[in-house]
Amino acid sequence: MTKLNETGASNRQGASRQGSIGRAVGLIIKEVPALFPVTVFLAVFEAASPYIGLFLSSEIVTELSEKNREKEHLFFLAILLVTLNLVVNLLRAFLNQLQDVLKYKKMKLLEKSIAEKSWKMDYETTCDPRVHEKRNMMPHWGYDHGIVALAQQVSDFLCASFVIIISIVLVIEFFGARARGEGTIAGLLNHWMFPVVFILLFSLSAAYSIWSAAQVQKVTYQASKDKEKPNNLAVSIFESCCAEYQRGKDVRMFKAQGILQKKLADLYEHITQIQEKASRFARKRMALANLCSNLFNLFVYLCVGLKAIYGAFGAGSLIKYTGMVIQMGGGVEKLCNTVREFFQNKKYLDDYFEYLDMENQTAEGTLPVTDKIRQDYELEFRNVTFTYPGVESPSLSQVCCKLKKGEKVAIVGRNGSGKTTFIKLLCRLYDPQEGEILLNGTDIKKYRYEDYLEFFSTVFQDFSIFAFQLGENVAAESAYEEESVIRALENAGFGERLKTLPEGLHTQLYKYFYEEGVELSGGEEQKTAIARCLYKDAPYAILDEPTAALDPVAEADIYQRMNQFIQGKGAIYISHRLSSCHFCQRIMVMDGGKLVETGTHEELLATEGLYHKLWHAQAKYYQS
Ligand code: ADP
Repeated sequence: MTKLNETGASNRQGASRQGSIGRAVGLIIKEVPALFPVTVFLAVFEAASPYIGLFLSSEIVTELSEKNREKEHLFFLAILLVTLNLVVNLLRAFLNQLQDVLKYKKMKLLEKSIAEKSWKMDYETTCDPRVHEKRNMMPHWGYDHGIVALAQQVSDFLCASFVIIISIVLVIEFFGARARGEGTIAGLLNHWMFPVVFILLFSLSAAYSIWSAAQVQKVTYQASKDKEKPNNLAVSIFESCCAEYQRGKDVRMFKAQGILQKKLADLYEHITQIQEKASRFARKRMALANLCSNLFNLFVYLCVGLKAIYGAFGAGSLIKYTGMVIQMGGGVEKLCNTVREFFQNKKYLDDYFEYLDMENQTAEGTLPVTDKIRQDYELEFRNVTFTYPGVESPSLSQVCCKLKKGEKVAIVGRNGSGKTTFIKLLCRLYDPQEGEILLNGTDIKKYRYEDYLEFFSTVFQDFSIFAFQLGENVAAESAYEEESVIRALENAGFGERLKTLPEGLHTQLYKYFYEEGVELSGGEEQKTAIARCLYKDAPYAILDEPTAALDPVAEADIYQRMNQFIQGKGAIYISHRLSSCHFCQRIMVMDGGKLVETGTHEELLATEGLYHKLWHAQAKYYQS
């Protein structure tokens, strides 16, 4: 079905890859339109916040150092400083909170889109371990990467840009302020080389900080990639084997705690080692970068101090100019880091859109499965050969057969002979590599997939009962017709048990979500799954050994009962117990992926082939 390349991505993704940033921005604007405006306002206030303190403190110190200081003006400046700081900080806190809510909303929409894609994806694709890994990774982006982080990067970019613009204006003012006097120092401070040396040192210090941060980020990114696999493994061991109560039985009976603990300890040790290595590297690099920027700050204090001493500006401006250089350094660093993160984040966006863009081959069919087809149909396997991905030998070889309207067919054979694979292909969970499967003479690939699935009602060997209410499980939806659900449950042999459930159809199954949830036995689960199959009321029913946990007599009973309730419909019964199926009009015997015999029970016994051999081998167990 979906063809995957080396990275587990589908073939037709190249075109959308270029536009992942544009698409991410588009999604934010569409789904959470308030996020960008809030981000811009927040960036403005974040950028303005330190300058309010710098400008007004500078004005206050200037006023204080004046001989004829005006008390009213001083008082006004102090009040203005406190009020502006208060207002800006309140607005920042409010916008920050609003931004968090919007980011959270986007995060949930992101998770929803991943879940929806996973449900709609071709079944075969979901079985690919590379796709599995990709999907597991995505929810772990959290707020740090991907679309949500993009909003933060826009905010950081704008904030850094505003800071740099304000600082450049102040730097020009600083260079323009001339030192007074004729001495060497005043000469040096006024020399045209002074701004050049100043900017050169500033650039060197900023470049070193940016380079160090880039190195640290590279190592951190690699470490987080290296940790992903052991982390996922540790989480799944923890969740499925330690925290999930249903597996607790086996864990206790087989004393598996030891092996689980050892596996977890090994994984945690491995994760810690990766983390420690990255942290050591980061500490060293950042210590050197800090030293470097502090040396530059020392130089700035010296220059600004000397200019003040040599009368270029008053004591108040000293605060303003030293603050401005530090702000500018931070701004440039932030801008460069944000741009780098922005491009690095593109990888996460590409991953996300690659996942969403994986195309379903099942989506290509357009023909409707009309009511006429549902009432009068013939299914045919024509020379069908199928090999599971990553496996060498085929599980089905050159299978040819027809399934006629209303016919009850049994598929029997030893374990591993290809019975379930036959069903998976019939239900289009996989497509055959060779041959065709036809519905009324048309390749099933040409039918609308949703319509085609509606044609079958199945109970798989490994069916799933969900931790929902009983009625919801049978109807597979929340709104259902109670009478039909009860009838289906009764027909599946669940009637007596239903009477004992205090909440009836509304009984919550399992204890995952509710303490009062009811646990079902293996047999009751099977009956629920069969009721779901009956409720769907599709033209064709398939029972793929869902009764394996029942004894042969109970299995035969359920199959016979099913047979009564699906009168007029086509059905396939699978069992490795031949006695359960001999009521069927036709029995197909599979062996080693091939359809080796076909006929009625009597015909097959008479031919003395594999069926005859298996029948007599099993019969001795049931003689009494
Ligand atoms: P049956 O239903 O008759 O017991 P199956 O159809 O389940 O047999 O399996 C037929 C063969 O295909 C077996 O050899 C089995 O190991 C193999 N097989 C089944 N499912 C897969 C899979 N998902 N990937 C690879 N091989 C598989």
